[in-house]
Amino acid sequence: MYLYRLYLSVTISGPTLDQAPHDIFDITRTFGDLGIEPRILAGITARGFKHPTHIQSLMIPPALAGKDCLGQAKTGSGKTVAFALPILHRIKPGDAFGALILVPTRELAIQVSKELRDLAEHAGLHALPVYGGQPIRAQASKLERRPEVVVGTPGRVMDMHDRGLLPYDKTRIAVLDEVDRMLDIGFRDDIRKILGGMKHGPQTIFVSATISPEIEKLARAYMRNPEKIVAVAKSLTVSQVKQSYISVEHWDKRKLLLHLLKHESPALTLVFCRTKRTVDLLQLFLTKNGIDAHAMHGDMYQTKRDKVMSRLRDGDLKVLVASDLAARGLDVEDISHVINYDLPEDPEVYVHRIGRTARAGRDGIAWAFVCPDQGALLQNIEMLTNVEISRLDYPAFEAGRVPDDVRAHREIEAKRREDSLDSKSRDPTVAPVDATDTLRFPGGLVPIAPPHRRLGGRMQSRRR
Ligand code: ADP
Ligand code: MG
Repeated sequence: MYLYRLYLSVTISGPTLDQAPHDIFDITRTFGDLGIEPRILAGITARGFKHPTHIQSLMIPPALAGKDCLGQAKTGSGKTVAFALPILHRIKPGDAFGALILVPTRELAIQVSKELRDLAEHAGLHALPVYGGQPIRAQASKLERRPEVVVGTPGRVMDMHDRGLLPYDKTRIAVLDEVDRMLDIGFRDDIRKILGGMKHGPQTIFVSATISPEIEKLARAYMRNPEKIVAVAKSLTVSQVKQSYISVEHWDKRKLLLHLLKHESPALTLVFCRTKRTVDLLQLFLTKNGIDAHAMHGDMYQTKRDKVMSRLRDGDLKVLVASDLAARGLDVEDISHVINYDLPEDPEVYVHRIGRTARAGRDGIAWAFVCPDQGALLQNIEMLTNVEISRLDYPAFEAGRVPDDVRAHREIEAKRREDSLDSKSRDPTVAPVDATDTLRFPGGLVPIAPPHRRLGGRMQSRRR
């Protein structure tokens, strides 16, 4: 039988005023309560963590007991530590390749292995990141030292395995971080090869902030009677992130972004675009207009990506324009604003993008640029996250004039509608509309076409 648990059912029991259930932290417990060995607790204490987060509090005990775990918890709620501690507890020094953690991006491989390394020091274990875009030789020689924990991107992991440097049969714990991304169409085959190659059936721990029923079904094929832990009460996004949308025409987006960045002077802003080309063009545009903006996407050389990441982590960067490469998992403390310059088609992507701010209980601001034809996309996001995103009319922004080609196109469309109405009224089989029939058209106003599906109308009619 699968166990379904919502954290509120655990934490809400008799809360006192100062123990109201917290969005992220389980303030009713300490890490010591979770059954972790003292040698590992030392690492936690050194990091200054006081209470476990809900996902840690719920997932660590069954994971320590060797159970397979499928965990869903909000962005920035410490899922890394939730799978790291059971690994450090169950894998002993000398258990070469005992844990294999698969992640979708190179940046995440570096970040997760660093977090493990920090905690593992006290447990006498070694963690190694293995990822593409770097000479294979350097990583291969480190693998020859047989680390206990490997954190890798699927392509490079398979490559190392094929070279005989990373035997899957030694893996006792297999982790899929960002499990929904790892099992979507881009990585699915690689994961099948890697996890399918582990015939001995290691313990599995899969986590993400978003796990759809389809993904859950795919995930379960690799798991044995998993415990499902859901620590997302009420909404998918954390309450500390203040979400708004700004209605803007397509041609005004650049101008609006510049206006926001100049007027808001945010500490550190992450701007998400749909394509790599938009990322490059926007970064150029901002730089030309006096904003120190940097770019990050998958077509950049790894050395450049690494440089941008280290400046980002050092707080040495104000604006980063990025593709969805930066949407998953990145944990950078000072990101104050996330701007969805292009609204994503997939509402789950929105959840991960805005999850780059307001991490570990901090505050953050998320703005989405929404064009008049994108009302449905915004609505899908609200439905998935169960959060109403409020409209923001940013002060002092003046919309630009409608471009000539758009104006011409609109005139042609209006003319076409008029013509088709004309031809309908000439059609003898269609009864003529009597504009004076005030019963059908109160006030005598006869609509000439169906109303436009414009965002402003939809939003205003739904809101006070
Ligand atoms: P997620 O994977 O859920 O998005 P991360 O694992 O990246 O989140 O953790 C987000 C941040 O929270 C990290 O900086 C991490 O060090 C910190 N963190 C994790 N657990 C705790 C805790 N119990 N107390 C305080 N901070 C924590
Ligand atoms: Mg994570």
